[in-house]
Amino acid sequence: MIELYRGLDRKDECILNAIFDNMWDFEYVPVHAIARECGISEEKIELALKKLGGMRITENKYTEYLGASFTFKGLSVFSLKRLVNKNAVSMLGNIMGEGKESVVYNAMSERYGEVVVKFHRVGYPSFKKVKEKRDYGSLHYTVLTVRSAKREYNALKKLYGYASVPQPVAWEGNAVVTRLIDAKELFRVKISNPGDVLDMILEEIKKMYARGIIHGDLSQFNILVNSDGVWIIDFPQSVDTKDPMAQEYLERDVKNVLDYFERTYRLKKDLKEVMKYIKDE
Ligand code: ADP
Repeated sequence: MIELYRGLDRKDECILNAIFDNMWDFEYVPVHAIARECGISEEKIELALKKLGGMRITENKYTEYLGASFTFKGLSVFSLKRLVNKNAVSMLGNIMGEGKESVVYNAMSERYGEVVVKFHRVGYPSFKKVKEKRDYGSLHYTVLTVRSAKREYNALKKLYGYASVPQPVAWEGNAVVTRLIDAKELFRVKISNPGDVLDMILEEIKKMYARGIIHGDLSQFNILVNSDGVWIIDFPQSVDTKDPMAQEYLERDVKNVLDYFERTYRLKKDLKEVMKYIKDE
């Protein structure tokens, strides 16, 4: 990532900006649109795209014209560049985790200290299947990925200060930066006071609900715990409590948590009662 980042000159940066600005309108952004935005000749853009394609930063495609889109790596490098430019991140560290839909890095921020940068990759690389199932027109998967990052950032902004979630620091492209929490995922730890921890988690779900947000993918993998408390993370699938599917998602979230505590700690709570508590009924 860092080598790729260092290999970019100002012309490349302008090209990546132009691809980003136009990717909402074109699956592959045409050379002439990039040339116009950068004020550089089409021949020079073509040459630069060959280099960027070779670095696996762009995916170039000839149809009636040459067009370019981001690879996941390319979008991530582009987003990192913007984060550094606005001083949200000063140094990228090691990979903390890699999932199907994201890659998470440790990083340093001059202003916030230790932070976490999550690069989203929703729909990648099986975007074609996604496209068949849902009607996204001919949008490139990078558009879905940016939307997913934005949704996560917006949910965190809305929740921070009201519920126990990581502090959101910045969002650019497919990257969301949050403050590092020194805690472990629930599924990794054996807790000695499971009743208290379960109550704390349910209280967080209640606070999020009161703030108008349902997590949508809550489980023992997205809850961090340490001796100070619990934190809820990973919000790209969050929905508004006004969403038609809201109740279904809420019940699924709560059920996942209750099932986990019953399975792991033989703690049983009634789903209906808990739902009433969360909705303040
Ligand atoms: P995904 O579910 O797509 O893998 P997550 O948001 O769950 O993405 O992040 C993956 C992992 O990165 C988490 O399980 C957690 O270990 C770590 N992580 C993410 N955000 C933070 C944070 N703010 N502080 C500490 N660890 C984090």
